[in-house]
Amino acid sequence: MALLEVFAADGALARVLPGWEPRAAQEEMARAVGQALDCEEGLVVEAGTGVGKSLAYLIPAALWAVRGARRVLVSTHTRALQEQLIGGDLPVVARVLAELGLPLKSAMLMGADNYLCVQRLTNLRLRPDAASGEWAETLTRLDAWSRDAQSGHRSALPEALPQSLWERVARDTDVCLGPAGPAWERCLWRRDRERAEKAHIVVVNHALLLSGARLPPFDALIIDEAHNLEEAATSRYGSEASLGRVVALTDEARLAARLSGDAALADAADAAQAAGAEFLRGLAQDHGLSGAEDEASGRLLESAPSSAPAALLTLEQALASGAAAAEGRAWEADLRSLHARAAQLDADLAAILKPAPATARWVAWGRRGPELRAAPLDVGRRLAEGVFSRGVPTVLTSATLASGDGLKGFKTRVGLPDARELALDSPYDYRTQAALWCVDGLPDPKDEAEHAAAVAATCAEIVARVPGGVFLLFSSWKLLKKVHALLRRRIKNRPVWAQGAAGHEALLEQFAEAGDAVLLGVDTFWQGVDVPGPALSCVVLVKLPFSNVGSPLEEARRRYLEEEGGDYFRDWSLPKAVMKFRQGFGRLIRSGRDRGAVVCLDSRLLRKGYGKAFLSSLPPCRRIEGLDELAAFFTPRADETTPA
Ligand code: SF4
Repeated sequence: MALLEVFAADGALARVLPGWEPRAAQEEMARAVGQALDCEEGLVVEAGTGVGKSLAYLIPAALWAVRGARRVLVSTHTRALQEQLIGGDLPVVARVLAELGLPLKSAMLMGADNYLCVQRLTNLRLRPDAASGEWAETLTRLDAWSRDAQSGHRSALPEALPQSLWERVARDTDVCLGPAGPAWERCLWRRDRERAEKAHIVVVNHALLLSGARLPPFDALIIDEAHNLEEAATSRYGSEASLGRVVALTDEARLAARLSGDAALADAADAAQAAGAEFLRGLAQDHGLSGAEDEASGRLLESAPSSAPAALLTLEQALASGAAAAEGRAWEADLRSLHARAAQLDADLAAILKPAPATARWVAWGRRGPELRAAPLDVGRRLAEGVFSRGVPTVLTSATLASGDGLKGFKTRVGLPDARELALDSPYDYRTQAALWCVDGLPDPKDEAEHAAAVAATCAEIVARVPGGVFLLFSSWKLLKKVHALLRRRIKNRPVWAQGAAGHEALLEQFAEAGDAVLLGVDTFWQGVDVPGPALSCVVLVKLPFSNVGSPLEEARRRYLEEEGGDYFRDWSLPKAVMKFRQGFGRLIRSGRDRGAVVCLDSRLLRKGYGKAFLSSLPPCRRIEGLDELAAFFTPRADETTPA
């Protein structure tokens, strides 16, 4: 009953949130979430842009938690959404519940390294080199501040710390002594954690949720940005051992050996670096990778020894002995931390060299030399066992989860095949707000130079006809760079920026402010870009966003699915590409007043049978053909206002 009252036209939400208007889809989602919580069910909800899904799950979750003295864990993929929930949406929800006489407590938790550790700060201040060095005054100020601070979160610090200093004072789970440590009474992370243990709603991120870290007990789980869950789990449940990691660890071990006067540790570090480098380089060469010219290339690890070089294990033991001998000394914490890192490196190597079933493993040449990687191929099973086996009601949601088979494929892939499902369309009117042009006839991408030139020429023509900002989405950095260089020569009257020119947020701010800029992006720019208004008037999807079938992970996935009786293209490649295509399309219309066009330059959309799977996944919108119709779409008629 309270839920209906909250979402009514004259309900609590309307009273606390000026300008809010009832939306049938938002209310329907809220009811479904409330029911899933009450009935202890699993629920997967796709809620199109504009449904207002954050409030649609937070309000029923808050009511359920406060009334039943329970706790709901809400997980997001990005820090931006985590901060939006805690700083924007949850204060609104708290005011809504206050209207009903219900007090709501909420808190945010992040990974360990986002918190100041008072113990490490104290240890660092005791070290002669730090006490007299460039950080001395900052450390004194931090120490004074920490005595009255209520939160140790990095964003709560009174001043921004350089990353190199932050790494020395951030909480490190490997050396955290917890209640047994001398700084427990002053521990700021403890305060953040205690707040979370008293909260009804705790906002975390996927990385923390999957990390295996001890979280406050919770009675229900809501996963937002659930389209990222598979990738987050693939990364979290995977392993990596690189030459860069070996060198960083052994260099730091040498430094620690010098400070502590431990000659045996210095020798062990030298030997581990040499043996680690030889081992990794040898494996790379065995698989045809030999130098920087192979950067970004990878090969499935077809054969490898079943154990790592003994010198790496010897280093781990030397660090353990050094830490034990340094008990009570200022460098003890550093040695313990290095020992934990060495142990983790050895564990990761073991996981790669003796892999669990259904694991892909490969060798690649990265920016800092050879690296070994492993990733699970059965992410659904891992999530089912690691996250969904807790027996609490679970809701997964995002604006884009469905592909050709609706939500079935997604539910299976993430390990929640029996969850109830709900798909809610965006309330926006795509028929009047959006136009779609599928371009046919560009040269075959196999002819890279000719294709890049044609893409750049077409994009320049499009830009000339679109009065607002144009967003070009690529599937490969190589093509992006070529087209960027060509466009900069052709377009002189507008800024032309490429992803990486500045930080993600800064670049998007520049783009939104410019109003008519051209922005080229890959990967992360297919999602999470939210630029309403004319500053983003046209989205160009350069190619259908299929995964790189030549990558070792995709090759391993193909073999695995075929062994399991599945079909790589039907069961994985196509649904994932359709989902990403919808995400790219979804960058266009961000409010009820937005108007704009999506142009796809990949003729497979029209010429291949599977093109229909992409086209039918989009909301119905006006189809246009050619540059003149594109220009006409953006030319307001006399009786129309300028596109907003
Ligand atoms: S309990 Fe852990 S985080 Fe807290 S002060 Fe001690 S070592 Fe640091």
